[in-house]
Amino acid sequence: MAVDSPLSSPLGPPACEKDAKALQFIEEMTRNAESVQQRVLAEILSRNAETEYLTRFQLNGATDRETFKSKLPVITYEDLQPEIHRIANGDRSAILSAQPISEFLTSSGTSAGERKLMPTIKEELDRRQLLYSLLMPVMNLYVAGLDKGKGLYFLFVKSETRTPGGLLARPVLTSYYKSDHFKTRPYDPYNVYTSPNEAILCPDSFQSMYTQMLCGLLDRHQVLRLGAVFASGLLRAIRFLQLNWRQLAHDMETGSLNLKITDPLLRECIVKTLKPNPELAQFVHHECSKDDWEGIIVRIWPNTKYLDVIVTGAMAQYIPTLDYYSGGLPLACTMYASSECYFGLNLNPMCKPSEVSYTIMPNMAYFEFSPHEPNLDSTGFDFTRELPPKLVDLVDVEVGNEYELLITTYAGLCRYRVGDILRVTGFHNSAPQFHFVRRKNVLLSIDSDKTDEAELQTAVENASHLLREHNASVVEYTSHADTKTIPGHYVVYWELLVKDSTNSPDNDTLEQCCLAMEESLNSVYRQGRVADNSIGPLEIRVVKNGTFEELMDYAISRGASINQYKVPRCVNFTPIMELLDSRVVSAHFSPALPHWSPERSQ
Ligand code: AMP
Repeated sequence: MAVDSPLSSPLGPPACEKDAKALQFIEEMTRNAESVQQRVLAEILSRNAETEYLTRFQLNGATDRETFKSKLPVITYEDLQPEIHRIANGDRSAILSAQPISEFLTSSGTSAGERKLMPTIKEELDRRQLLYSLLMPVMNLYVAGLDKGKGLYFLFVKSETRTPGGLLARPVLTSYYKSDHFKTRPYDPYNVYTSPNEAILCPDSFQSMYTQMLCGLLDRHQVLRLGAVFASGLLRAIRFLQLNWRQLAHDMETGSLNLKITDPLLRECIVKTLKPNPELAQFVHHECSKDDWEGIIVRIWPNTKYLDVIVTGAMAQYIPTLDYYSGGLPLACTMYASSECYFGLNLNPMCKPSEVSYTIMPNMAYFEFSPHEPNLDSTGFDFTRELPPKLVDLVDVEVGNEYELLITTYAGLCRYRVGDILRVTGFHNSAPQFHFVRRKNVLLSIDSDKTDEAELQTAVENASHLLREHNASVVEYTSHADTKTIPGHYVVYWELLVKDSTNSPDNDTLEQCCLAMEESLNSVYRQGRVADNSIGPLEIRVVKNGTFEELMDYAISRGASINQYKVPRCVNFTPIMELLDSRVVSAHFSPALPHWSPERSQ
C-alpha cells in the first residue's frame, strides 16, 4: 500500500515511511551528485592527509580535485602490492588509511594466481549496509505485497584465514553475514528470510545448503522471491535439490533431521521447527521425481514473483537455464558491488536483464572514468595503458560511451582501476546509469572465477609437458565456458601434433593434462572446484588436424583480415562451436580435484 507521505518520491509512491526516507536519500544523492562527489573526495583526502601514501605525492593537505588529479597516479592492484604486503605482515602505521585496517576482503580477482587482498576499515560496513537498505524500498515500488511473505535466499559464508600479521582475510559477503549489521538486523517485514542465521553462518557448505533448502521447502507457500548472489549460485541450489530431494522428503515425512547435519547450533535450530509433514514430503516426491524439471521453481514455490540474482556481465550465460527452471519469472539484478567498494543499485530492478543499468551512488566513494574505446581492444590488448589517461568525473560521463571505472575509497585506494568496463545508458537526476559491459581481460568464467588469457596459456603450456613422452605437442587451442551442465566447466579444444602415431597420447595422459591445467589455474578456480563445488572437471576436446585452419578460413570468409587473424582463445559464437564440436575426435575429463587450501601460497 502506498503511503501518502510528505516525503513521497519522484521514483514512485513509497510502500512505507521507512521506504520514503530511503527513496528521498536516493533523490538527494543523485540530484547533488557533483557536490556529493566533491565532498567525498575532500573528506577522504583530509582524513588520510597524513598517511604515508598521500604524503608521498606531496598533496600537502590539498583536498581539491585539480591538485588530486595532477599529483596522484592512476594505479592497479599490482602497484599497491608492497603496501598491501606490509599491512598483511603486521605494519599498523597509517600507510593507506588513517583509520586502522580492520580486515582484508579477498576479491575474486587474482594477482599472481591468488585472490587480491583489499584493505578495508570498520566504517565501510556502514556504507555497505546503507546501500543494502536502499534495495527493498526500490523493489517495493515495482512489486507489491513483499511484506506478506518471505525471501528464500541461498547465502553462504566461505573460509577465512589470517594474514601473517594477524588480520582476517575473507570474502566481503562472509564479512557482512558475520557482522552484527546482518546477524542482529532489526525485524523488517519486507525483508524476512526463510533461512535462519544459523544456516547461513554454517561454514560447511553441504549443511548450510541442505538446511536452507529444507527451510525453503517447509515455507514453500510463503516464499515470494528466490535468490542467490549470482545466477550460478541459484542454479547450484537447483542442482542440489536434484541430488538431495529424496533425503529432504524423508526428513519432512518423518520430522527427523538428516544425520549429516552435525553443526550443533544449526541442528538445534532446525530440529525445533521440523515436524512430520507427510503431505509436503509427498508433494516434493511427486514434483522432484518427474523427469521434466521445467518450471520446477514455480511448481514448488508457486507464489514466487521474481528471482533475485545477478545475471549481468559473465552471469548472462545462465539466463536461458534460469528461464527454463523458473518458467520465465522476472530476473531482478539489484546491485553492483565489489570487494573494493559497493558502487550502486538498479533503480528499475524488474527490467529485462539486457536493459539493466546501475546507478552509481555518489556517496560510496570518489569515482573517475577512463574513456574506453571498445574497438581498440577487441584483441584483449589494453591500449589505454599506453596513453596518459584523461579521466572523466562521475557527472561528466557521456551517454553511449564506454569507460573503465576507477575509485578512490575511504579505506585508502586512490585512483584505483577496478577493471570493469561500463557503458553509460542515461542519468537519474545528475547521477549516471551504467550498463555493465564486461570485466577487462577475462576469458573464462563459470562462477566467481575469472581466468585471463595469460593464465590459460600457462595452463596449456604446463599441461602439454606431459605430451613429451608421446613426442606430441599442442599446435593450437581455444576454450569455452560450458554452462549446459551444472556446475559448468571449462572446455579446452586442443589440436595435437603427433609425430609417432603408434605412440599417440592415450586417455590417461590426456586426463592428466586436464588435471595439470587445473593445477595451473588460479586459486579462485581451484576453490570453486574443491571447496564450493561450483565448477565441474575441466575437459579437453581433441580436434582433428586442420580444424584451426578451418576456423581461420571461416573467420576470413566473414571478413577477418588474413594478416591480422589470431586464433581466438575463447569461443562462444554458435557456428564456431558447431564447427569445433563436429571435429572432436576424443574428450577427456580431469580425473581428480586440483590442490586448494584456504591458506595463501604467498
Ligand atoms: P569481487 O571483488 O570478487 O567482489 O568481484 C567484484 C566484481 O564482480 C565487480 O568488479 C564486477 O566485475 C563483478 N560484479 C559485481 N556486481 C556485478 C553486477 N551486478 N553485474 C555484473 N558484474 C558484477
